[in-house]
Amino acid sequence: MTGRAANVVGAGIGGLSAAAALALAGWQVRIFEQAEDPREFGAGIYLKENSLQPLDRVGVSELLLARGVKLDEVRILDEHHRPVAVRDVRAERVVVTLRADLHGALRDLATGAGAELVTGQTVTAAGADGTLRLAGGERVAGDLLIGADGYHSVVRDCLGLARRVHDLGDGATRVVVPRVETEPVSTEHWSGRRRVGVAPCSPEHTYVFIIGPERDARGVRLPVDVARWSGAFPHLRDVFERIPADAGVHHAHAYVLCSSWVRGRVALIGDAAHAQPPNLGQGAGLAIANAFALAEALAHAETVEEGLDAWQRRSFPVARNVQRLTTWYDHLGYQWPPPVAGLRAGLVRGLARFGPTRRQWEWWWRGGVPRPAETGPS
Ligand SMILES: Cc1cc2nc3c(=O)[nH]c(=O)nc-3n(C[C@H](O)[C@H](O)[C@H](O)COP(=O)(O)OP(=O)(O)OC[C@H]3O[C@@H](n4cnc5c(N)ncnc54)[C@H](O)[C@@H]3O)c2cc1C
Repeated sequence: MTGRAANVVGAGIGGLSAAAALALAGWQVRIFEQAEDPREFGAGIYLKENSLQPLDRVGVSELLLARGVKLDEVRILDEHHRPVAVRDVRAERVVVTLRADLHGALRDLATGAGAELVTGQTVTAAGADGTLRLAGGERVAGDLLIGADGYHSVVRDCLGLARRVHDLGDGATRVVVPRVETEPVSTEHWSGRRRVGVAPCSPEHTYVFIIGPERDARGVRLPVDVARWSGAFPHLRDVFERIPADAGVHHAHAYVLCSSWVRGRVALIGDAAHAQPPNLGQGAGLAIANAFALAEALAHAETVEEGLDAWQRRSFPVARNVQRLTTWYDHLGYQWPPPVAGLRAGLVRGLARFGPTRRQWEWWWRGGVPRPAETGPS
């Protein structure tokens, strides 16, 4: 089934992926975006095999690999700088790249395949028949409607698809700093309920994420409070001091659980469908993987409804498992009383070394796809 009209709400990573996948499959695509000039902010993003494999087929991963950094190792260190979990990832692809590079590549892919990007247009309503309404009152019909409008999705809420939508108690400040790190290694440092991740993401940039409780007023402040964070992580003072004064964005971590991603001729993609704490670095990865899987399912179906049903049956359980694991990690990180927080490292160290839990963790961390020479989680 190709060559029909699809409307996409939102020009984030999810919406642009869906627009590109559908346009490449022969659909006439229009993307409605509320921002005048949609762009990603200055931060890095981790991509794994589940999103890189569909991006291989459209030539985007090659570009991201050329500009970003393919990691050799991913590690977590505890308060005493001792390893909690260390993974050698040379046999698979874990790439950290600039968000702007990923967003720009997807935008070029979508528009190059014929999708029309309509900016400065806010969608205010959506119906199960695939129609949408714009803030100016105009009604737009189509054969398929994709709600890729993020955490506060209007499309999802109009169709009553949400079971749970809420902020979690923690949040992250993200920033890129001038790179001095030489090794292609990502390190997450723990200190009580705070975490700091450091990973090179381009030849010139290192991505830094700083995570802690939202109620810590000094911790969430922008510009980043260097004294505050250096107090918790004295060995990272040099990293905090590299943060430009005008850099950084802060977001509370969000959670969305839907009863279904599909109603009639409408499907949800990305944070609208499954916003999750970023511990597995899979929110955008799942959005990209699901967008390409959606176009493929529609290509093999007689009707839109049949294609959406087949897509959801395959993609929903994978996203749900990833979301469960990343949420569990959040509980582990933030909901332990401080006096016993030290036990956390011991528990994670044990789980990371125990074969069955390690393999499960790695499988969902990659978004439910094998790495070369692997067949499935055991
Ligand atoms: C701290 C942190 C770190 C993360 N790290 C990673 C990582 O390493 N790897 C990874 O895969 N994921 C990561 N994620 C998750 C990832 O960033 C998100 O899942 C992803 O960016 C969501 O993209 P989206 O397109 O679904 O939503 P959004 O980026 O929110 O885009 C939605 C778009 O829709 C538009 N819009 C909204 N409402 C309307 C409307 N009514 N009308 C028109 N337009 C509208 C918005 O303007 C926006 O452009 C992280 C998240 C956080 C918070």
